[in-house]
Amino acid sequence: MSVPTHPPSVPLAIDDLTVAYNEKPVLWDIDLDIPEGKLVGIVGPNGAGKSTLIKACLDLVPRASGRVMVYGESYKKQRGKVGYVPQRESVDWDFPVSALDVVAMGTYGKIGWCKPVGRKYKKLAMESLDRVGLADFAHRQISQLSGGQQQRVFLARALAQDAQLYFMDEPFAAVDAATERAIVTLLHELKDQGKTCLVVHHDLATVNEYFDWVILLNMRVVKAGPTDEVFTAEYLKSTYGGTLSALSKVGDALKQTKGAIK
Ligand code: ADP
Repeated sequence: MSVPTHPPSVPLAIDDLTVAYNEKPVLWDIDLDIPEGKLVGIVGPNGAGKSTLIKACLDLVPRASGRVMVYGESYKKQRGKVGYVPQRESVDWDFPVSALDVVAMGTYGKIGWCKPVGRKYKKLAMESLDRVGLADFAHRQISQLSGGQQQRVFLARALAQDAQLYFMDEPFAAVDAATERAIVTLLHELKDQGKTCLVVHHDLATVNEYFDWVILLNMRVVKAGPTDEVFTAEYLKSTYGGTLSALSKVGDALKQTKGAIK
């Protein structure tokens, strides 16, 4: 079988990816080619494999089969071009470090582990905190930040990495309105710089507004492409499996955005 090649301009290309936990597949035969400079929403029900998809791209979970290419090379070779914002709950926020420390650690890919963070990178970390509206909280212990502020620390950390391709796992989960606006502004700044962001997203009502591209996922890719073509009642029903509560959410989402569901 020939191995597909992908030009270096493609930020993320996934071929034939299958991931299993304890031999039970949770992602099956995933094929995706993500175009450059897009804000991409990953949408699907709980347990659909959205986080697993991100983790498989970042070599955080083993792949049963398939390949992931980042700008035409393996993730291992390209990790300096990739930023990751994990789920907020996946982190021990009691760890005794300041917001500035967490952001500065994001630059380690550039300066190497175990070297002291120099003035240049501290400045970069400070600027990144400023971009997410947290300059005044730089020296506060992360345990003493609100949930929304913690989420913004993560975003600042990703910014300090100055990546080309970002993976964000539910950055909008349980954040206040100010943080939500800050995240949207930031996503647009990244897009304007030609960067590509893949964002796990739960709120169907804002998919049309926030994303130019959508991956509808439920163990398999139900449909992926420009939001206009993919975020339709038909494909959403296939993704959410027709359960009553999910479908009424879908209906509400489409009514709010397009009035399209009948
Ligand atoms: P989503 O992000 O769409 O909610 P996940 O990727 O977190 O979905 O999970 C997909 C499936 O894999 C779920 O059934 C979940 O229970 C299972 N799963 C996730 N992580 C693990 C793990 N570390 N070990 C075993 N099963 C897991």
